[in-house]
Amino acid sequence: MRPSIPADRLSIDILQLSRESQGYRELMLKFAEYAKAKLGINEVIINESSPNRQFNPIEETALNTGKPYVENGLSGYSATELISYANRGYKCCAILPISKDGKSFGTITLLSADEDGFNPEYNVLFSIASGIISSESGSKFERDKSLSVAKYFDASFNNLLPQMLVSFEGTIVRANKSALNYFNRSQKELTGTNITDIFDLDSAAMDRLRKGMLIESSGKLYQGKIFEISPSKISDGLTHLMINEVSESREAEERAKLLDKSSESVFMSLDKDLLISWVSGASGDLFGIQGDMLVGKKFTDFIISPSNISDSLRKLSSGRLSSPIKLNFGNEIEFYANLAAYETKDDIYCIVSKDYERISKFAGSLLQDVVRLSNDPMIEVDSSGYIMSYNRAAEMLFNMGNGFVGTQVYSLCADGESQKKLATSFSVARSNGYIKDVYVSMLEMKDRTEVPCDQTVKAIIDQNGNISRFLIMCRELLTKRKFQELEDAKDRAEDDAKKQKAESDLKSQFIYNISHDLKTPITNIMGFSKLLLTDNASNLSKEQKEYLQIIYDESDRFLQLVKQILDVAKLQSGIVKLDLQPVNFRDILNNPSIKSLQEACENKGLEFLWEVDYDVPEITADPNRVIQIFSNLIGNALKFTEKGYIKIKVTRTKGTVCVDVSDTGIGISKSDIPKIFKKFYQLKRGMVKQEGSGTGLGLSIVSEIVHLHHGMIKVLDSDVGKGTTFRFTLPIKAKIPKKTLKYNKAEHQS
Ligand code: ADP
Repeated sequence: MRPSIPADRLSIDILQLSRESQGYRELMLKFAEYAKAKLGINEVIINESSPNRQFNPIEETALNTGKPYVENGLSGYSATELISYANRGYKCCAILPISKDGKSFGTITLLSADEDGFNPEYNVLFSIASGIISSESGSKFERDKSLSVAKYFDASFNNLLPQMLVSFEGTIVRANKSALNYFNRSQKELTGTNITDIFDLDSAAMDRLRKGMLIESSGKLYQGKIFEISPSKISDGLTHLMINEVSESREAEERAKLLDKSSESVFMSLDKDLLISWVSGASGDLFGIQGDMLVGKKFTDFIISPSNISDSLRKLSSGRLSSPIKLNFGNEIEFYANLAAYETKDDIYCIVSKDYERISKFAGSLLQDVVRLSNDPMIEVDSSGYIMSYNRAAEMLFNMGNGFVGTQVYSLCADGESQKKLATSFSVARSNGYIKDVYVSMLEMKDRTEVPCDQTVKAIIDQNGNISRFLIMCRELLTKRKFQELEDAKDRAEDDAKKQKAESDLKSQFIYNISHDLKTPITNIMGFSKLLLTDNASNLSKEQKEYLQIIYDESDRFLQLVKQILDVAKLQSGIVKLDLQPVNFRDILNNPSIKSLQEACENKGLEFLWEVDYDVPEITADPNRVIQIFSNLIGNALKFTEKGYIKIKVTRTKGTVCVDVSDTGIGISKSDIPKIFKKFYQLKRGMVKQEGSGTGLGLSIVSEIVHLHHGMIKVLDSDVGKGTTFRFTLPIKAKIPKKTLKYNKAEHQS
């Protein structure tokens, strides 16, 4: 089987689907529908990655190589994983891996019952589809992640109550430390599990949560406990849950433990050599290192500054010491803390407490990681709009290199309107925290081409609660850009067409002028040669008279040609005035030109038939022009017919009279038919140009005349060697052509 969709169409369509999808799951589902509707696929199976899901070896291979796996000719002898497809009557399958940067989102299996299997063109489409969906899924995933982290890192996510971010299906995307402590699970263990594994939730309860309604539930993990879960919806795909244990039965001690663990201070005992002998539970939270890892180590080794703190600690004889210190536990988290130390009888008791600066620093580095790692272009600007940093994705999208730190972010806007929008976004973010998906036209810095973007602007709050800077996240609107490109192309094409029309008008005018100038000398040549030929007094030899006759004949041909050119030019330039009168088709046969054509036919041994149906009425038309149509068509028929007949049949149709001019001549091949109405077009029959004088202008004149009358003309039928039928129609009541009116008016004025 062959696909009916070209690769570029497929790419645009998938990007469009992606634009309409909230997350990568929705994108995969939308693509499944699309594949069924547009790619001739009978069934689509989506295998989404989840912690519990095992992929079969073939899916695994596709995911590892990143290449679609295609198998044509499924049968009972296919690989075990594929036999079930063969048993269901499918003849070919394609397994598309969806993965990005080592994260696999799943596979999409496309099945078809087509005997022929997927041809190589399909393979290309599959690679493209797999590539685009992977990359879009990757950025959707990253964006959701970074958006939520950016949104939450400085919010209350890390306060004492257990909290979680869950997806629409209830999968835990992130849990805060209190939740991890409470449920005694690591972030890794908890993320990816469904909340229905933790709480006893039926579908009604899930629905309430999705709608943002408070629920009470008993625990599954902690049987017998009652929890109050209060959700708030962040986006269609993400909900924030605040969990509160409300059961009375919970031990007060456990509560204390929770508080202790989340406490803002770490307590520790040092022996006289300043070696750590005991550390309270908050160490993991605060120091990023578990307490037991610290026992036995020298506390002062972790203190970077002040350097003389060991002396102070050692010198502690009585009373207390309190000072700000800078700590580093060798895990790259460097922070400030306040140290209070007390000397007791046996040891030194220390309290290391959270320093706000430490939080902001930690939060800052978290944000920096989010920015750095995100696939979404992000720009960090200070509160006055100066660029502080930007990530690789932004650098690539706007082609910025690395010289833009310190410049105004407004210089990236494509126009004044976009600058205004960005300024508004800043002020909305100032008051509301953030503003989402504002359409702004940005600039690519090298070629200065437009980059349409959806922008989300987020205000970043420092430890004092002030807005210190903003994070701008940009999402390029590819489809919009594509659309704009198409529109531009259309405009260009229209301009070209206008230009061509103007040029062609100019040409017609030129031909018209020059033909006029040619007519006079030719008429003179003809006149004088005629005079010489008929003048008996001239003493020309027989041979000279023959030459003179040739001059006369050729000049006559030349004059006819000029006249025809003049006629076409006139017809096309719109300066022809139709002289509308009643025309009767029965009378036309008596016209001298037609009569002489009839005679010529009969002399050639051809039958000449003129049939007018009884109900054909008189029409209003230009009689001379109608004769011209007949003369040309009958003249051609005569020229190209050696035996048989020439038949003119006139019938009445609705509002028009229809004339068929048929002959039994040499015919015109199907491929030549569209060409013959073009100016100066004469068919080459064999290698030799056809015999008989002609200019190739006859049919274009005929067609101009018919169209001036608002009729139509075409070759109704033609068979090489058998004959041709031309059909033209003329309206019974001619409309006065607009062009003529304009001309009359102009004539009147001059
Ligand atoms: P010309 O003045 O050379 O006849 P036309 O514009 O009238 O030019 O016709 C264009 C070409 O169409 C002719 O050269 C001829 O090849 C073809 N043609 C026109 N009428 C007939 C016909 N009745 N039978 C076969 N060929 C025809």
